[in-house]
Amino acid sequence: MAINRWPSLPGSLLCWLKNNFKKDVSMSESLSAQQLLRIRSKLETVVAEQPDSRAATSANAALQRMRSGEYGYCIECGDEISAARLAAKPDVALCVDCQALKDEEEDA
Ligand SMILES: [Zn+2]
Repeated sequence: MAINRWPSLPGSLLCWLKNNFKKDVSMSESLSAQQLLRIRSKLETVVAEQPDSRAATSANAALQRMRSGEYGYCIECGDEISAARLAAKPDVALCVDCQALKDEEEDA
């Protein structure tokens, strides 16, 4: 009976919604809340200790992305940046691929 197909719909719809929209509304899923907090405090320390440095500008931009929910995603292509990369360089704004392209451009 056709009606038997309906009960499965809400679940799959929810899943579809999650997969398609989660990226836009939340922070990187590869980072735990605790990791994010640690990264945020690192960034805030940089801003507090060297307010006029290039590092602070970059840290501020990362904090801004955190507030808007874009942190952890490449600003060029939107790909998720790996947690390991973020942990090593908390203010990183580009994924490895885009960073490599940018480095090539700068070297040229
Ligand atoms: Zn990218």
